[in-house]
Amino acid sequence: MAERVGVYVCHCGSNIAGMVDVEEVARWAGANLKDVVVARDYKFMCSSLGQAMIEEDIKKEGLTRVVVAACSPHLHEKTFRRACENAGLNPYLCQMTNIREHVSWVSRDRAKATEKAKALVAAAVERVKRQQPLEPFFVKVNPATLVIGGGIAGLQATLELADAGYPVYLVERSPSIGGHMAQFDKTFPTLDCSACILTPKMSEVGQHPNVTLLTYSEVEEVSGSVGHFRVKVRKKARYVDEEKCTGCGICVEKCPRKVVDEDFEAGLGYRKAIYTPFPQAVPRIPVIDVNSCIYFERQKCRACEKLCPTGAIKFDQQDELLELEVGNIIVATGWKMFDCRRIPQYGYGRLANVFTALEFERICNAAGPTGGKIVLRDGKTEPQSVAIIHCVGSRDSNHNEYCSGICCMAALKFGHLVLEKTKAEVYSFYIDMRTNQKGYEEFYHRLLEEGMHFVRGKVAEVTDAARRPEEAGKLIIQVEDTLMGKQRRIPVDMVILMGALEPQADAKELGLKLGISCSMAGWYTERHPKLDPVATMTDGVFVAGACQGPKDIPASVAQGAAAAARVMAMITKGNVMIEPVVASINEEKCSGCRICNNLCPYNAIEFDEEKQVSRVITAMCKGCGTCVAACPAGAITGAHFSNEQVFAEIEGILWDAIHGNGGQAKQQAEAVSV
Ligand SMILES: Cc1cc2nc3c(=O)[nH]c(=O)nc-3n(C[C@H](O)[C@H](O)[C@H](O)COP(=O)(O)OP(=O)(O)OC[C@H]3O[C@@H](n4cnc5c(N)ncnc54)[C@H](O)[C@@H]3O)c2cc1C
Ligand code: SF4
Ligand code: SF4
Repeated sequence: MAERVGVYVCHCGSNIAGMVDVEEVARWAGANLKDVVVARDYKFMCSSLGQAMIEEDIKKEGLTRVVVAACSPHLHEKTFRRACENAGLNPYLCQMTNIREHVSWVSRDRAKATEKAKALVAAAVERVKRQQPLEPFFVKVNPATLVIGGGIAGLQATLELADAGYPVYLVERSPSIGGHMAQFDKTFPTLDCSACILTPKMSEVGQHPNVTLLTYSEVEEVSGSVGHFRVKVRKKARYVDEEKCTGCGICVEKCPRKVVDEDFEAGLGYRKAIYTPFPQAVPRIPVIDVNSCIYFERQKCRACEKLCPTGAIKFDQQDELLELEVGNIIVATGWKMFDCRRIPQYGYGRLANVFTALEFERICNAAGPTGGKIVLRDGKTEPQSVAIIHCVGSRDSNHNEYCSGICCMAALKFGHLVLEKTKAEVYSFYIDMRTNQKGYEEFYHRLLEEGMHFVRGKVAEVTDAARRPEEAGKLIIQVEDTLMGKQRRIPVDMVILMGALEPQADAKELGLKLGISCSMAGWYTERHPKLDPVATMTDGVFVAGACQGPKDIPASVAQGAAAAARVMAMITKGNVMIEPVVASINEEKCSGCRICNNLCPYNAIEFDEEKQVSRVITAMCKGCGTCVAACPAGAITGAHFSNEQVFAEIEGILWDAIHGNGGQAKQQAEAVSV
């Protein structure tokens, strides 16, 4: 029996109708495409009226297939499938074709765009006629969650879930949780003490009965899918037995090897070869840095071992590989600082008194290397003038085009701290002042009142080459003041570079393990920037905090909580629907060569040793089609992507070449490649 197909062409306001003659596409489909019994256009197909129109046609016209030519299936495939289901049609007998992103938004020629839209509609009609009804299946959601990254975003997500009664594994790669916030003294705009608001959260996480804290650990491998991920975590050897260590710190005190602390102290302070990164670290269990430990260098010393009262030092400790099973994953791996050496004209690394923002955070910190005293690199001289340069590596086409969002506010915070703690003059060199969150503009006005000087202009150079007597021994800021309209040279004692926030160096690598992608700039990509900002394209994997883009602490906390709420919704539901668009292997045709086993990016194919054939684990298959294309025996079929369906779709695209008048064939081919 012939199928009865309904075609629905959406205007999307003027998004599609502005470039595609949608009435003509609908008219043409109704008049020309075999088995199309209804073809309509409508302003907003996704609206309740648009959906009602489809539902009514299914019932009245006895439609057996539906094609919606509109926007991306990512946005509305569920909407239209639901409309079909409401009208009693199997939802997988509905096919969307994207004439917005694939046609109207990428075309300049209305006639060609309309032809291309027709070709795509014809392709969808041919494909949908060959689609089979499918039934989704459901898998149970493991209530445990993995949170990767123990900065403020990861801590918030962890506590929300743990307080709700669900188990959480928190994997943090450094020896302590806390992230960047642990390095700060005060936080803008309220100037709360960073440690005072962070450490209660850290200790709550450390002591929470529902939290398994895995510090000094990294995710090695992730398999499975939403509801039941399997994760391999490498817990690096601390060379300290966590069960025996009481955190008394005697080992740290007695360790004879002192090294520069490049991490927590940003290179300004020292730590021992056995260390906890900072006094409030959670856990308070030290770690031995094998690259600086005397014993690992020349098999001597072992002072820590001799003096540890509980016998906790274990030089033979090995990395452990842990296997975790979780239902969902929240990624909260944060940011890293731009390497200011990449802008040599600002002198970082060459001119002693040029500091990075993180170095300055440590200088300001009462628990930092200078005890909170703002002094020059010599450790004793208080500066009489300080320059703070904004946008170092941000809003710069040579480095990062984006705005790092928080540096203007951090610069104002630094200005306030310098004015509060010293008698120095403070200059802010900014391009535009970005203070657009709650309380931020007011903080800027406060700094104007406190006497901070603002110079609008991009700094050309920081130099120590004096031209005038008053410049001798100083760092000179060479800048074009765009408000005064003149070049200025401003001598100062100290320069602070507000480096850009950048994605972690291994963000892409971790993203590959998790099946999530990064933007061109390297930040993790959310499912939808406005409507779904903490979900990713991989079900069950969420992002929170600055790993998704530069953001301040309140926004990071909000995202941590939002990601946890999304996870809780899945856990309380108990099971999750898995799309039935998956691959399947015909055992009779399978030769057992196992090529597909290694190719599947989701590890969704297992090998049956007894039968010597491969088998798809449906709950893990994403229907990507890699195995279908690779199987030399043609034993694998992708539901909704059978050869028959794909060839029919291609024939549909070439409808005009096959069925239309021959003279239009060329125009059709051109239109397809608009
Ligand atoms: C100089 C400066 C000053 C600032 N001051 C303020 C302020 O006063 N107020 C404010 O609101 N905001 C401020 N910010 C912004 C603030 O730093 C961020 O909002 C905050 O750090 C974001 O938290 P997060 O948890 O997303 O990331 P992070 O703080 O970067 O934490 C990420 C954590 O993930 C861990 N991690 C990374 N990769 C992995 C991995 N692969 N596996 C396991 N763990 C991993 C890291 O070790 C880290 O512990 C400032 C930023 C700068 C640059
Ligand atoms: S001396 Fe022993 S118990 Fe004390 S912190 Fe060091 S390892 Fe832990
Ligand atoms: S590639 Fe094909 S033949 Fe080889 S194991 Fe996989 S399914 Fe079987």
